[in-house]
Amino acid sequence: MSHSVELQGVGMRFGATRAVGDVSFTVNGGEFFSILGPSGCGKTTILRMIAGFLQPTEGRILIGGKDMQGLGPNQRPTAMIFQSLALFPLMTVWENIAFGLEARGASKAERRKKADELLSLIALEGYGDRMPGELSGGQRQRVAIARALAVEPQVLLLDEPLSALDLKLRQHMRAELRSLQRRTGVTFIYITHDQSEALAMSDRIAVMSAGVLQQVGTPRELYDNPATPFVATFVGETNAIAGKVTDVADGVASVDTVLGLLRGRMARSVKAGDQVKLYVRPEALSGSIGENRVSATIDRIDFEGAFGLAHGRLSDGAALVASIPSTDLANAPAIGAATSFGFETRHAVVLPDG
Ligand code: ATP
Repeated sequence: MSHSVELQGVGMRFGATRAVGDVSFTVNGGEFFSILGPSGCGKTTILRMIAGFLQPTEGRILIGGKDMQGLGPNQRPTAMIFQSLALFPLMTVWENIAFGLEARGASKAERRKKADELLSLIALEGYGDRMPGELSGGQRQRVAIARALAVEPQVLLLDEPLSALDLKLRQHMRAELRSLQRRTGVTFIYITHDQSEALAMSDRIAVMSAGVLQQVGTPRELYDNPATPFVATFVGETNAIAGKVTDVADGVASVDTVLGLLRGRMARSVKAGDQVKLYVRPEALSGSIGENRVSATIDRIDFEGAFGLAHGRLSDGAALVASIPSTDLANAPAIGAATSFGFETRHAVVLPDG
């Protein structure tokens, strides 16, 4: 089993800027773990602290249970793949992959054997003699990963490695990376600002906003039970309906909104009188079923392939988005007409506002 990575109260200041504050989480050995958040939230800073390129100004980082304080990148059982992957352009694929092994004193035969194993792992057998310029973007990315894996790291740190690729290739590489991680059993820590990428690939995800850890959970947990308004709106699309709690019972809050009394599951403890928002996913809104009903006017329906996304306005003027399976689009609400949407109480999440 590969090493775990534990952050205990980790913080980083650059002069007066607090880039990361008091972050604690544990990545289990052999896990595919993502750090997700918008640009500037501190993801890269966390990765650089784990790799040893930066020393945290607060807290501790343990890898495989061992405190990493004061250890540089070469003294840690980690390897990092950067956003702008830099293969050596004048070296062959084979030389690129074997590069780190030479520094470790491996013989030529050992290097050749290891590089061949890795070429087979990334399904590029026979490409060893090519130059990086003779590969596609996805193939270059796979070589960069093979090069990082050559030194047998316990933990592989990946900083948005797919961001330079086009959508189709990115989707293909998601599956490749996931399967590579499964086959090697290496602990992967993957950073991305793309929530669909994080949801599709990860065992668990840490969501960050402005240097603050919002929530750690499986993709399903984050999607179904967001702990903060930030997670509710950043991970997947959602509708947010504001109101005031009138009553709580059995984990369900009744909320007085301008659209009427609506009910939802309490994701955090709230009490009568609290200002809250009800978060309802687009796919939880339907025309016919649900204990709760809201009225909306549809402005347009965007066809997305498997489903259509109906964009409109609730009767209080707030935006509404409902997803309609493509097989039902023939019966979709008319543009400009007032339409009633229902949702089930268990599909709405109530969180304190702000
Ligand atoms: P992106 O997705 O755009 O790469 P990020 O989430 O990785 O963003 P970081 O690069 O970790 O964000 O930066 C977090 C914050 O710390 C930003 O406000 C950034 O400007 C600041 N920061 C990062 N490195 C330094 C530095 N060396 N000196 C000063 N401020 C820095």
